[in-house]
Amino acid sequence: MGNHIVIIGNGITGITSARHVRKNDSEAKITVISAETDHFFSRTALMYIYMGHMRYKDTKPYEDWFWSKNRIDLVNGYVNSVDFDNQTLSLENQTINYDKLVIATGSTPNKFGWKGQDLPGVQGLYSKQDLDILEESTKDKQVKRAVIVGGGLIGVEFAEMLLSRGIEVTFLVRENRFWGGVLPLEEGAMIAEHMKKDHHVDLRLEEELDEVIEGENGRAIAVITKKGERIDCELVGLTAGVRPNIDFLKESNLEIGRGIKVNKFLETNMPNVYAAGDCAEVQETVTGRRPIEAVWYVGRMMGETLGHTLTGNKIAYEPGVWFNSAKFFDVEYQTYGNVLANEQEGEKTFYWKHPTKHISFRAVYDTETKALKGINNFGIRLRHKICDAWIKTNTPIEKVMVELKNANFDPEFYKQYENDIIAQFNKENGTSIKPKKRNLMAIFGK
Ligand SMILES: Cc1cc2nc3c(=O)[nH]c(=O)nc-3n(C[C@H](O)[C@H](O)[C@H](O)COP(=O)(O)OP(=O)(O)OC[C@H]3O[C@@H](n4cnc5c(N)ncnc54)[C@H](O)[C@@H]3O)c2cc1C
Repeated sequence: MGNHIVIIGNGITGITSARHVRKNDSEAKITVISAETDHFFSRTALMYIYMGHMRYKDTKPYEDWFWSKNRIDLVNGYVNSVDFDNQTLSLENQTINYDKLVIATGSTPNKFGWKGQDLPGVQGLYSKQDLDILEESTKDKQVKRAVIVGGGLIGVEFAEMLLSRGIEVTFLVRENRFWGGVLPLEEGAMIAEHMKKDHHVDLRLEEELDEVIEGENGRAIAVITKKGERIDCELVGLTAGVRPNIDFLKESNLEIGRGIKVNKFLETNMPNVYAAGDCAEVQETVTGRRPIEAVWYVGRMMGETLGHTLTGNKIAYEPGVWFNSAKFFDVEYQTYGNVLANEQEGEKTFYWKHPTKHISFRAVYDTETKALKGINNFGIRLRHKICDAWIKTNTPIEKVMVELKNANFDPEFYKQYENDIIAQFNKENGTSIKPKKRNLMAIFGK
């Protein structure tokens, strides 16, 4: 058998796989195919290009010579179909044979069949092409108002980008709070307030898109909401979540659910074919982790896992404790473990909020064992290593409170709220916990 490893997708997943294959095997022939850009760039930095904080070339983590130096062949093209029996990919002008195939094709923005959803002036925010289209649509101040549909992390970035160019933003959010499928009521309401009061976003909760209206110029000129209101606008941003970008595989024998079904080794039902990153649906996942997790670091971890498996050292993908972080305009957010939008049976929640600022801390723990299950923090940065260890080792909530200072990311620069948090915990629970001083060994020791 030859050793040609072909990877579809040059995002974080595909590129991490390619890099780790090369690290572990200097002989393998590696080809990475992408229809998006010639080189890998950081998708999470798209907003900063638009806002003028970075140039496109600054978002490329590797210099352009890196790929030839490491003998990673890059092909710019779209894979139309895969013949799994003959191990062949069809692109517009060429076919490529593989010995092993990694499908790392990422996500695509959801569209729910709204009338007018494909009009010019209606777009998602996912790819470099989306950014170029947005740049074109919003140059020369042609857009005065935009309507964004769907409140999640990409929507909030889209809103911030548009506001940075003086474009007014109306935001339609189906739930009664911001990111209501993920955030508990208090945090969702806090972020909604931050967006409205501090950034003048015209946020409409419990409101949905019904249709987009076409103007005489053939472009979107307004939306009609489910409640029947017409909102005039020159741009409609669709950010109602993403789904795996796998339509080109639907006619094949590859087993597909919402994403490409894989086992814990990231193997599909087809021989020598793997899937990873946003497009993969893991069938054998661990408690507290979802089958599809469309976030950057999951792609990186899966890519690294495949780098071993593809070079003869078969290992399982072990996701560990869930972690995510983001920014809602000025408010930083981190989440560890399992904090769901609604409290679950057998769980108890402790929630603290600063009386005036958008700063909060939530800990979810087991009612019986008191073991910490998850943390949500806004406006305070916590140490990943410490929070991860607390959850992994089922640390009881009271011990977490005692050790809370160890988790403060950088007390020199971040104001400390531990005393206030613990005082409220004591009041609510009739305890008399005193926080321990920071333990530098626990923070920095091995
Ligand atoms: C605006 C934005 C902000 C984000 N911010 C964050 C964040 O702050 N934190 C976080 O954790 N995550 C964030 N994400 C999500 C994160 O970017 C994704 O989880 C990650 O990029 C997925 O990586 P991937 O390699 O699996 O797929 P992708 O990055 O989507 O890469 C897949 C590549 O495959 C290409 N491709 C697809 N089909 C084909 C085909 N048939 N032929 C050829 N090429 C194909 C695509 O064009 C694309 O280039 C953000 C996403 C967006 C859009």
